[in-house]
Amino acid sequence: MTEILPKAIQDIHLVKEENLLNWNNVLEKFKINFGNDIYESWIKNINLKKEFNDHVVLSVPTRFVRDWIVSRYADKMLDVIKSFKKSIQRLEFLIDENQEKSDQLPYSKKSKITSIENSVLNYNRFSPNNRFDNFIVGESNELAYTAARKICVQSAHYNPLFIYSSVGMGKTHLLNAIGLEAGNTKKTMFISAERFMYYFVRSIKKNEMVKFKDLFRSANIFIIDDIQFANGKEAMQEEFFHTFNALIERGSQIVISSDRPPSNLDRIQERIRSRMSGGLVIDIQPPDLELRIKILKSKFQEIKTNFRENYDLGDEVFKFLATEVKSSVREMVGALNRVLAFSKINTKSPNIYECKKILKDFINYNNKSINVELIQNLVASYFNLNVQELLSPRRSRSLARPRQIAMYLAKQHTTNSLPDIGRKFSNRDHTTVIHAVKKIEELIIKDNDIKKSVFELKKKLL
Ligand code: ADP
Ligand code: MG
Repeated sequence: MTEILPKAIQDIHLVKEENLLNWNNVLEKFKINFGNDIYESWIKNINLKKEFNDHVVLSVPTRFVRDWIVSRYADKMLDVIKSFKKSIQRLEFLIDENQEKSDQLPYSKKSKITSIENSVLNYNRFSPNNRFDNFIVGESNELAYTAARKICVQSAHYNPLFIYSSVGMGKTHLLNAIGLEAGNTKKTMFISAERFMYYFVRSIKKNEMVKFKDLFRSANIFIIDDIQFANGKEAMQEEFFHTFNALIERGSQIVISSDRPPSNLDRIQERIRSRMSGGLVIDIQPPDLELRIKILKSKFQEIKTNFRENYDLGDEVFKFLATEVKSSVREMVGALNRVLAFSKINTKSPNIYECKKILKDFINYNNKSINVELIQNLVASYFNLNVQELLSPRRSRSLARPRQIAMYLAKQHTTNSLPDIGRKFSNRDHTTVIHAVKKIEELIIKDNDIKKSVFELKKKLL
């Protein structure tokens, strides 16, 4: 539809300059949500080209990148963008050839070949910041830490070493630390499964498979991050399996990370899974409060030193961050950075109230989405009822109205279907939900009290 409208008419729906999304903020959130690796590989170079009332046009460097993003990340990206602007309903991608960066295989550039031959294959953002000495050890990650250290002195002792945890618990940090430590003396390769796949596909397209194989099979220590990415990707698994075997045969150490144990990688070939379980499998558990506070304090010191800043944060701020932002260490560090930005601008440590304000969207985002139960609780307490009353079969108006409002909000603010919502209201029929929604829509126009209640409830909800 958009294509056939004359440009001038299309432009009417363009968002005014001053109301445009702040793309840098969106990118920052992408980075947090997708993780550094996916961000660096695919998302960093996306630009906001145009913004309309209900959709945005984003530019990507190549068709390949576009297809990749659309099939994997577009839904999540839209969610993130919506968290900044509710009105955006879809994304459009535009291929901007000028944007293609020198995105070649590492060995296709003369200058880099030497660095690869010399020491560490560091094209995969081998970060100087994630070292053993700044990895804070506690009960939940001690085993993983010890094993990782051991690999560096005594190669192929546990082979492979398989570390798993949920996101943001320090897997990549540890893997990176191994690379930094061992990379001085051994030919170390550190790559995410996602990048491995990327180079693999490119190599096929460019007829460079021989180079590809040589490169990956020459490592003494081969570290591959986020192997769960290979789930269901048959061609890649095939290649990985051969790489894996070739490496083991040479006596090279392999280190693998994943967001789940090998046994739960359900779409990975059985022979690979059993190979991966053949060494040492270790998990990292979520850190407890004490460890979280320690990590925060250590990050804070690092930032202070690196940027030669001279501000301080109150103890209650650390405690607040460690208590409120529990989902992952990554989120917690992200939250810390926000708080620091505040202290820098205001030249003082924020108090708890200010922290809450600064981190509003952060914490909401963590607590995840609005659901029917949440709405029922909120509505019940707003009308001084308990949830049982709200869900009961009684039809007195003092119960029926709040109930209808709750159904209306559930329809508007969750993705549950009408029958689903009905079920959650003591197995009512979906026609009852439809009736409730219509009724409240009418009343919002006619009845000021209802209008006010709905408005206030929405405010609390969002
Ligand atoms: P994962 O790979 O498990 O998703 P990362 O290694 O990317 O997690 O960790 C996310 C962030 O948290 C990084 O900034 C990392 O340095 C930090 N982090 C996680 N655990 C620790 C720890 N024990 N000590 C210091 N920093 C940590
Ligand atoms: Mg990681």
